[in-house]
Amino acid sequence: MRLKDKVALISGSGSGIGEATAKRLALEGAAVVVVDLNEEGARRVADEIRGAGGKAEALHANVGNPAEVENMIKFAVDKFGQLDILHNNAMRLYTGRLGEMSLDNWRKSVEVGLTSYFYATRCALEVMVPRRKGAIINTGSVSGLAADYGLGAYNAIKAGVINLTRATAIEYARKGIRCNAVCPGAIMTPPIVKMRSALPDLAKTTEQAIPMGRYGEPIEIANVVLFLASDEASYVNGAFIVADGGLTAHTGIPSVAGSGPDW
Ligand code: NAD
Repeated sequence: MRLKDKVALISGSGSGIGEATAKRLALEGAAVVVVDLNEEGARRVADEIRGAGGKAEALHANVGNPAEVENMIKFAVDKFGQLDILHNNAMRLYTGRLGEMSLDNWRKSVEVGLTSYFYATRCALEVMVPRRKGAIINTGSVSGLAADYGLGAYNAIKAGVINLTRATAIEYARKGIRCNAVCPGAIMTPPIVKMRSALPDLAKTTEQAIPMGRYGEPIEIANVVLFLASDEASYVNGAFIVADGGLTAHTGIPSVAGSGPDW
């Protein structure tokens, strides 16, 4: 077991990538705190982990609220005695062009998608630094490396997450803390599944743009988080690992050698 005796807290783990990560980390021996705004989702995931023989506690929290962030770190320590792994992963997505986005939606996006990552990191450091060990993993996105149409705030937040990761990594490296990010491409989580059925043409074009020709599965991101959380990544710090089926390896210009993705 790669995470025996470790305690992990994952925000937004009542669904999607967070859920897959909570289950994957638990399978490797970690005690997991499943945090989500969706109480039912958090409870279900924690129950499923316990049902499979793992250790988990569910916590209903809004990570956009600083007091609830403070409480979630305290909850992990109260329940399991320590905190070794923090995975900042929750996100609320507002779509639309920047020119049409309300200030309120921009602020809400930043609050959940960036400020909560900073504040959870700050609170976790208070627990991790005295023990001189800890791994923090932030969920970035390929939309933080280049911009996607119609995701103005999201593009900005995810770029911020990547540099928050680097800043945390360099400032706390000598205190035994590592901080890294995972940057997923298009992954089959509930919001994407919903989008695929509502907008099948967009889904098909997206799939064609991915060199591997398919969306990723949540477990394929969870496996990256597991690596970053484990001691196998002991010299990996301030990095972001892209898991996108090759999407960002391509400039976007169609093939000059023939038509179609399989030329
Ligand atoms: P998801 O909707 O399945 O999971 C996100 C979870 O976060 C939900 O359970 C939701 O209830 C929770 N959440 C939202 N606001 C919260 C809040 N204020 N406090 C606590 N929990 C809250 O979505 P997902 O696709 O698994 O997304 C997880 C992360 O992966 C996000 O950071 C997202 O930006 C990132 N990501 C996803 C994709 C993709 O294609 N699915 C691609 C790149 C990055």
